[in-house]
Amino acid sequence: MQRHEDNGVVLLCDFCHSEWDQVKPMIEGHHGSIICLDCLKQARAGSHGGLVPFKCSMCLREPLPTKMLHWEKNGAIICGDCIKQAAKAFAKDPDTDFTDD
Ligand SMILES: [Zn+2]
Ligand SMILES: [Zn+2]
Repeated sequence: MQRHEDNGVVLLCDFCHSEWDQVKPMIEGHHGSIICLDCLKQARAGSHGGLVPFKCSMCLREPLPTKMLHWEKNGAIICGDCIKQAAKAFAKDPDTDFTDD
């Protein structure tokens, strides 16, 4: 997500709300939603099916089926497809030690 400040725009992870410092690995979704590597790791470890259909904050698809894996934090939700995509992208990023296994 973006936060507008007097001296410009600050990019924030939609899930943990940490600010992008130009160094921390982060990936942008289709519509300006952002997930950082720390959250992606948590999402991979903690994703699960839910009780109600949901909307993914990264790809904005809705309603996604209840049983589809997803992960939620601070009201933002990432679906299983976006978790996979983000993991691939982080694994390709030479600045991270992340591997998509
Ligand atoms: Zn985060
Ligand atoms: Zn998604």
